[in-house]
Amino acid sequence: GLRLNGVNKTFHQGKSDLNVLRDVSLRVEPGELVALVGPSGAGKSTLLHIAGLLESADSGEILVDGAPSSALDDAGRTTLRRSTIGFVYQYHHLLPEFSAVENIMLPQMLDGVSKSVAREWGMELLEMVHLTKRAEHRPGQLSGGEQQRVAIARGLANRPAIFLADEPTGNLDPDTAESVFKILIKLVRDAGLAALIATHNLELAARMDRTLRFEHGQVS
Ligand code: ATP
Ligand code: MG
Repeated sequence: GLRLNGVNKTFHQGKSDLNVLRDVSLRVEPGELVALVGPSGAGKSTLLHIAGLLESADSGEILVDGAPSSALDDAGRTTLRRSTIGFVYQYHHLLPEFSAVENIMLPQMLDGVSKSVAREWGMELLEMVHLTKRAEHRPGQLSGGEQQRVAIARGLANRPAIFLADEPTGNLDPDTAESVFKILIKLVRDAGLAALIATHNLELAARMDRTLRFEHGQVS
């Protein structure tokens, strides 16, 4: 699972400091699906980026599947991140010049997986998000909901133990959001992942196992 112990993060903005994370501690167990809610600007994305080892904390410890990350150097953190964490960004970050399946192959190939194996697993993941027929399309040729499903499939490409998603159904119409959410829940549950998902949608949050409220730099 995922564990944060006393994590702090401050952004320095001119003369003023913004304490985005104040002594944040939380845990997400394997098989648990946890919602992260809070007002815009509260720091949900910052929290996910730090939990996902994409950004560093000022102090505190992030334990990924029991492994402490604070003592690691950048290369060590990257290795740990690639082998354990799946991430879906708030703004999907698919690479526009690559096809859907290539976007899913990329994280695997960075991990040293051969092209043919990466493609095979990529196609399986596309099937799980019901997009087999869109495999060769580029992101610009996909709808918003389709792009989000590719982003989710890519987040699962390295068979992570921990799955972090930042507003995976934001910017989608309600019906599309519902179908993307259902697919996401099923994949996370089937794989028994520890999942932390930021959302503004309280109705979706209520369908997860637990909700963490994040405001004024602290979770409750
Ligand atoms: P939203 O719901 O709108 O996505 P959020 O809860 O995800 O908001 P964050 O994106 O984490 O909020 O931002 C938290 C605060 O930190 C904001 O006030 C933002 O301006 C500030 N912030 C985020 N990243 C940086 C940065 N790299 N440098 C300085 N300030 C930052
Ligand atoms: Mg955000």
